[in-house]
Amino acid sequence: MENKFRFYNTMTREVETVIPHEDGKIGMYTCGPTVYHFAHIGNLRSYIMEDVLEKGLRYVGYDVKRVMNITDVGHLSSDADTGEDKMLKGAKREHKTVMEVAQYYTDAFFEDCRKLNIKRPDVVEPATNCIAEFIHMIEVLLEKGYAYQAGGNVYFDTSKLEDYFVFSSAVEKEQLQVGVRDDVEEDVNKRNKNDFVLWFTKSKFEDQALKWESPWGVGYPGWHIECSCIGIKNLGEYMDIHCGGVDNIFPHHTNEIAQSESFLGHPWCHYWFHVNHLNDQTGKMSKSKGDFLTVSLLEEKGYDPVAYRMFCLQSHYRKPLVFSYENLNNVELAYEKLVKKIAALKDEGEVDSKAFAEYKEIFTDAICNDLNTSMAITVVYDVVKADMNDKTKLELLSDFDQVLSLNLTTAGKKLLEESGSVDTELEQYIKDKIAERAAAKKAKDFAKADAIREELLSKGIAIKDTREGVIWERV
Ligand SMILES: [Zn+2]
Repeated sequence: MENKFRFYNTMTREVETVIPHEDGKIGMYTCGPTVYHFAHIGNLRSYIMEDVLEKGLRYVGYDVKRVMNITDVGHLSSDADTGEDKMLKGAKREHKTVMEVAQYYTDAFFEDCRKLNIKRPDVVEPATNCIAEFIHMIEVLLEKGYAYQAGGNVYFDTSKLEDYFVFSSAVEKEQLQVGVRDDVEEDVNKRNKNDFVLWFTKSKFEDQALKWESPWGVGYPGWHIECSCIGIKNLGEYMDIHCGGVDNIFPHHTNEIAQSESFLGHPWCHYWFHVNHLNDQTGKMSKSKGDFLTVSLLEEKGYDPVAYRMFCLQSHYRKPLVFSYENLNNVELAYEKLVKKIAALKDEGEVDSKAFAEYKEIFTDAICNDLNTSMAITVVYDVVKADMNDKTKLELLSDFDQVLSLNLTTAGKKLLEESGSVDTELEQYIKDKIAERAAAKKAKDFAKADAIREELLSKGIAIKDTREGVIWERV
């Protein structure tokens, strides 16, 4: 098929046309969540944009297979193989076993995804499923001389690679080779500064909960090995697109490439898609007013999670996105206005196929042009106000929504129904109060009758006695 989907490939630093290994098919991999806590909406930004990428590829005709891992073991709170074990920390906090914590937060993650209209990947594989595969890959890396044992652990030897820092420019490479992060305690067993652990037997965490037998002793895998193994296990030796947040580029994705290509003996994945951070106004990973931002928190505050999806889609995935409640409010207001307008369209008549094709092409171009989602949303607005019949508009909007997943043709009706039912509820309440007041007056309880009038007034409802009966109005 014709390949016309283009996006910025972090590996080549260019916007490139995606040419899959097998014509018409795309194998796509996403680094999944570490399931020790609720997902932050900043991380969910990556999953939303990856979801749009997947749906965009399907929209233009690719048969996509998407794979995601679930990190339920071995992810330390620092990438440098130091710090606390996040899973164990979560388990201790909640007095649960590590596997209970993993299951709980895996379910919570997919519940968030459901609310954000993120499709579940075709394959979701927890790391603890694949211990045998990890051990096999590490054995091969040892055999081929890319790994070594020291101090009870197995390490990947980065000095064996011609170019370890595959994503970095020449200047960055120099900085990475020279600089050591101050907060990282040097591991004396490493031969080179950037070597990383493939298998731990000597854990800094005495009470590491999950351990497995291995040729190197009882222990557990390093974090990076899981994505290499789960990717190759489910997508074969050639992966087309690997996704993640920009914070995954180094060291996680760099290490994945080192392991996978040394194991396979050939290039592994050509296209690397990375989504930028969600920041607050100070430029840090977003916390708003000290809140840890989750989908549930947004819901508690009365936001529709799909409005957050729209918020993400309105900006380009490669740019940092600034979160504030004010920004989100504005987007939600615009979203509600838009879907109510769409709800007013009449599903009657014939589709104008010429107009349909014309707008579909503009929309497709926006999506294929480095996932220009803000342009795609502009096309949505253009369709709503275009000079064409309602039927054609509705067909176009539901067609676009295969990619955008903003409930474009359903959300407005729901909103109108809700506001309708609020009105009926209020009306019933006023009627009841008026009847109560009439009864009080009949019983000559004028104090009670006045109190009811005041109560209604406090809710913005004024009542008036007329010859035709009691009438009310909003004040
Ligand atoms: Zn990964």
